[in-house]
Amino acid sequence: MKIGFIGLGNMGAPMAANLVKAGHDVTGFDMVAKPDGIPLATSAAAAAKDADIVITMLPNGAILRTVAAEIHAVMKAGVLHLDCSTVDVDSARDVAQSAENAKVLAMDAPVSGGIGGASAGTLTFMAGGTKAGFAMAKALFDIMGQKAVHCGPSGNGQAAKICNNMILGVTMIATCEAFNLADKLGLDRQAMFDVVSTSSGASWSMNAYCPAPNIGPKSPADNDYTPGFAAELMLKDLRLSQMAAEATDADTPMGAAATALYKTFVEDEGGLGRDFSAMLPRFSARSRKDS
Ligand code: NAD
Repeated sequence: MKIGFIGLGNMGAPMAANLVKAGHDVTGFDMVAKPDGIPLATSAAAAAKDADIVITMLPNGAILRTVAAEIHAVMKAGVLHLDCSTVDVDSARDVAQSAENAKVLAMDAPVSGGIGGASAGTLTFMAGGTKAGFAMAKALFDIMGQKAVHCGPSGNGQAAKICNNMILGVTMIATCEAFNLADKLGLDRQAMFDVVSTSSGASWSMNAYCPAPNIGPKSPADNDYTPGFAAELMLKDLRLSQMAAEATDADTPMGAAATALYKTFVEDEGGLGRDFSAMLPRFSARSRKDS
């Protein structure tokens, strides 16, 4: 398949590399990055022009809208624009409308699994768009990921992503504050893990990504909280969840609290560039009067 790939950053470069490795004819474009092993075009439009599928993996909705306007103008009728960026639901739906106007199929398919999943080809895709678009993308999902769920019409992939990550942000904070309380109560961290990971407090944050160093499966906590999933990316996704909650009048008090905590952590407390599980040492360093 002839694939245009726009946005070759931390996620896009290894995803594109996996498509090249699988034998696809990939042409990439990035404003800054020039990764080895991926044939490059000189503009987004040039990468998109003759492609059967154009994938975008960009930082935010505003940039996606700009790139989409540029590529939809030159894409062939009936081909697919597969956007894997994490963006707000409104941008995803507007870009899908722009594609439809240009007789291009559109699918929003944000991912879970991070840089490790992008390199290993084990991402999970949450896809929004038509059945025809999903069918066209399926072979590529199978190369870049281990699972793809069709969540409904355009925007629903982004909806699934921000709901999932709102749960993740909230459960990580809950897990970290509970570890801190356990520490204060004199409860051994290994005992805390052994009980909670097999009890009703279990979650992915505890069981698979334990924020306490040297407890549970290997996680960024074991590597001095080097990301992994950086706190500022969690803040981005939480902000998207709160934008969506405002737009739909959904009551999300825990999501709002998690957003406020990660904002302070990233902007004022040294969380920038640290893994999002570094909330645990943050709690450990504080007392109740600090809240
Ligand atoms: P990144 O910043 O490393 O990569 C984005 C790339 O887009 C950069 O190389 C940048 O130069 C390029 N770019 C910006 N504007 C452009 C334009 N107009 N034309 C062409 N290229 C342009 O970000 P990333 O970590 O690769 O993340 C990409 C997306 O995936 C984001 O939406 C992010 O939220 C999402 N995501 C990231 C992770 C992660 O762990 N990094 C996990 C899941 C989802």
